[in-house]
Amino acid sequence: MYDDRDSASISRREFLGYFAASAALIAHTAATWAAEPGTGEVTSTVHSLHALNDGLEGDLLLPADDRFEAMRSVSWNRLIPERRPDVIVMAKSQGDVVSTLRFAREHQRQVAVRGGGHNWCASALRQGGVLLDLSHMRSLTIDAAGATATIEPAVRGAELIEAAGGHGLMFPVAHCPTVPLSGYLLNGGNGLNYNRLGNAASNIISIDLVLADGRQLTVSSEAHPDLFWAARGAGPGFFAVATRYHLKLHALPKSVTMSSYVFPGSATEIAIDLVESLSTSMSPDVCLSLTISAPPPELTSGNDTVAVVSAITYSDSVADAEVALKPLNADPRVNHAVSSLVNAPTDLESFLGALGATLPGGHRALIDNIWSNVPLGTMLAECPAHYANAPSPKSHLVVICFHLPSNSNATSYSWLGRYLVYNNTVWTDETEDESNRSWHSKATSLLDSHKIGRYVGETDLTKEADVAQQCYTQQTWTRLRALRATYDPTGLFHDYLRVT
Ligand SMILES: Cc1cc2nc3c(=O)[nH]c(=O)nc-3n(C[C@H](O)[C@H](O)[C@H](O)COP(=O)(O)OP(=O)(O)OC[C@H]3O[C@@H](n4cnc5c(N)ncnc54)[C@H](O)[C@@H]3O)c2cc1C
Repeated sequence: MYDDRDSASISRREFLGYFAASAALIAHTAATWAAEPGTGEVTSTVHSLHALNDGLEGDLLLPADDRFEAMRSVSWNRLIPERRPDVIVMAKSQGDVVSTLRFAREHQRQVAVRGGGHNWCASALRQGGVLLDLSHMRSLTIDAAGATATIEPAVRGAELIEAAGGHGLMFPVAHCPTVPLSGYLLNGGNGLNYNRLGNAASNIISIDLVLADGRQLTVSSEAHPDLFWAARGAGPGFFAVATRYHLKLHALPKSVTMSSYVFPGSATEIAIDLVESLSTSMSPDVCLSLTISAPPPELTSGNDTVAVVSAITYSDSVADAEVALKPLNADPRVNHAVSSLVNAPTDLESFLGALGATLPGGHRALIDNIWSNVPLGTMLAECPAHYANAPSPKSHLVVICFHLPSNSNATSYSWLGRYLVYNNTVWTDETEDESNRSWHSKATSLLDSHKIGRYVGETDLTKEADVAQQCYTQQTWTRLRALRATYDPTGLFHDYLRVT
């Protein structure tokens, strides 16, 4: 999605041409901003835009810049909102972040921070103000002896898995190789082996932050614990900029093993019943999920949907994996499956690649989720019939089963139920927007009456004003609001979408 062509070296002549254009663009932008054109305000804005531009290691992009629209619309989702920032800063260092925040404070512009642009409702894209883009901040170092990693925000899950894997280590990255760690970690992060390793953010040792007032802090459970708590779950409502994460790594499991059963539409209830009964009884070493979708082409004969029950386990030996997966493999209900993989060996890269293929970039997507404890048979009763009529065969429902952790107050991430259930509506053709929107709205309403709450990292924050609040316990939400008021009293950073 991202490439680095815009930062490739340019000739001196091109540079001078660009510099001249920048001066003109700066003058134009300053004049557009001024409440009273022709006043000293324009001159001072010209000066500070020049000062910002000259001091950056990265780039300042103004609306008339050729690259502005391409950088505005960097997003995993091709449904790109019309919201337009006044300027974009492509930061390359923590110093760039400090300079950008200083500029925004001086000119009373709000700041939206973008890590890798994977938030599906483009939370970092706001109307007006400064879009602070961190996508060029991608350094990654591993301390193999200490089993730690230090990463800049835009490092992607697959990059960390590859680098750590070379030392026999791993980190619970997201279930898709391209997901950047930046926003994922701030969301709390449901990653690999989530029942054993906890949410991803609980594996952060410390975070380097730049606060709204310009202070540069390293926060941890000892230093500024309130900010450290907030950063690990506040997600798109976080009120500082994370410039570096220090992460605890884990031993690479010796065996990554998967069993998976594909049930025809006629056996969907059996698949749902199977997952319901195994969801708490299987070992926490197993991550169990259910997917309902249109059937793959080879299974189309007479089937309207398929239900796939998958279990993956991370263990020290193949023998341990077989023991962990036995409750599924030995259950007689799997005999209703039309195809299966039993105790199939895999590795983290292949597993991530396979999951990534279910949510590929370059598509149009509407995504929402609920946390729930309602029995799956009741919760999903009407869903298979609705998925059988999905306008896009790429759309799917996913249920992820959790064993609730005992230390759930350690971070601001709110783990609200046994099941996290997603509606992923995915299509390609712009002319099918309306049919997919209306189908998605009904798919969401079928689940919403069963919700306890939502996961902030992948919910539709544009929907209702209280969606962000629905992602937290009342106590957590109250504490987050109080910390935002303390650390960003003037509202330098944009709040959650729809929260004003
Ligand atoms: C295909 C796909 C698979 C996914 N799989 C998972 C999964 O398995 N588990 C899971 O938990 N989530 C998953 N997600 C959701 C993912 O956690 C979010 O999309 C997350 O926002 C990605 O990070 P980002 O840096 O791209 O966010 P961006 O879109 O860049 O930013 C989103 C918001 O986060 C905040 N933000 C981001 N970086 C910073 C920063 N450095 N400092 C301050 N604020 C910042 C800003 O408020 C911004 O508005 C998935 C998403 C996709 C598209």
